[in-house]
Amino acid sequence: MADSKALTTRATDFSAWYNELIARAELADYSPVRGCMVIRPNGYAIWEQMQRALDQMFKDTGHQNAYFPLFIPQSFLSREAEHVEGFAPETAVVTHGGGKELEEPLVIRPTSETIIYAMYAKWIQSYRDLPLLINQWANVVRWEMRTRLFLRTTEFLWQEGHTAHATEAEAEEETRRMLGVYRTFMEEWMSMPVITGRKTDSERFAGALRTYSCEALMQDNKALQAGTSHNLGQNFSRAFEVTFQTASGDLDHVWNTSWGVSTRLVGALIMIHGDDAGLVCPPRLAQYQVVIVPIYRTDEERSAVLEASDRVRRELVSAGVRVHLDARDGMKPGAKYYEWEGRGVPLRLEVGPRDVAAGAVMLARRTGGKKEHLPLAGLPVRIIELMAQMQHDLLEASRARREAASIRNATKEQFLAHIEGPGGLVYAGFCGSGECEADIKERTKATIRVLPDEEFRSPEPPVVCMWCGRPSVAEAVWAKAY
Ligand SMILES: [Zn+2]
Repeated sequence: MADSKALTTRATDFSAWYNELIARAELADYSPVRGCMVIRPNGYAIWEQMQRALDQMFKDTGHQNAYFPLFIPQSFLSREAEHVEGFAPETAVVTHGGGKELEEPLVIRPTSETIIYAMYAKWIQSYRDLPLLINQWANVVRWEMRTRLFLRTTEFLWQEGHTAHATEAEAEEETRRMLGVYRTFMEEWMSMPVITGRKTDSERFAGALRTYSCEALMQDNKALQAGTSHNLGQNFSRAFEVTFQTASGDLDHVWNTSWGVSTRLVGALIMIHGDDAGLVCPPRLAQYQVVIVPIYRTDEERSAVLEASDRVRRELVSAGVRVHLDARDGMKPGAKYYEWEGRGVPLRLEVGPRDVAAGAVMLARRTGGKKEHLPLAGLPVRIIELMAQMQHDLLEASRARREAASIRNATKEQFLAHIEGPGGLVYAGFCGSGECEADIKERTKATIRVLPDEEFRSPEPPVVCMWCGRPSVAEAVWAKAY
């Protein structure tokens, strides 16, 4: 059972708060292998809800799931020059199998472009085989030096979409479409507002033409890259000879995209909504959307209250609500409230003898507000309304917090004061030079999160690079990031 000591507050030490929240809510634990994570049932349930929603969205946009092997021949990784340079330092390599040294070492996938495109070379012959739209749910391994539960672990779970197209325009359209799918998921399911845009060359995926990203601002004013979508151009199809016969009979290389989100999203969910009492889970992703706590003293009260509670439970289940009746004996209601609060359950219904007599229940919201009596008549409809409201309010509160922590058209001095002070997002002009980026990163640890899409850009486009004063080629969003 979770301990009863209060969490370190976010204001005191955000990082300690994060770790304690995960332990308290029993979301994950450290593994015997350094840098790896055990995802406990409460944490895995959130990931499952995420998977379910995303998987449906992928299928609705025409994708199918498949599975490719965990092991990749080491030589595959070297075929695309940038790719190997980007991933070689963090690969885990298997050199022995069955007690014998392998002829060729096997890399444990850090990402699956190489193995997947080697297969696509066999499967794609003609323009009629295109587009090929495949997603895989898998684990990957990247040998990280500094790890944090959910945010950066040596092994993590994710999905990686890999598609092949006949033209560059179709690949670009797919890349943008899937970025849009991620954005919809993050806003409508996670209640997490994101800024979309393109990455600069220094932050681009190793081997991609262009990388697009969804960026969110956490409560400690650090940004988090929540999902990426890459237009790979023909880089991998040339390396793996993925060719097809065009409608006019020529031979051409396919155009690829890849896109992914990972269990990092669970970390994002914690950091964008959590409070000093623990996790706050948006209803659409909550394992339990409603918990019912029966309150009784005598045996007589107990049977009446439990019976009424179970009736409420069954009604909510039939309305499609994920509900749990906490009928544990020998545990005080207050202790149950505390536990479910820490786990982020959106709504709690308390059922006592007086409520039963009055044909009502007592409602408490995870995100505050006064407790209120709800009549049993029409309860499921009211619960569904309350959940929709909470889903919406969490999104708007996060958006308001992000905007309050953003400054626009910043000068160098304002940038430094913001980044080294309260932190948050800085919108400013950028000359396009990698030297400016590197200089800023070295001095402040801030990076360009994205060159934002039009809807996020400032009404007045910046004229000069806020760092070097040369003409600006694009507005950029800077922040310190996870
Ligand atoms: Zn510059």
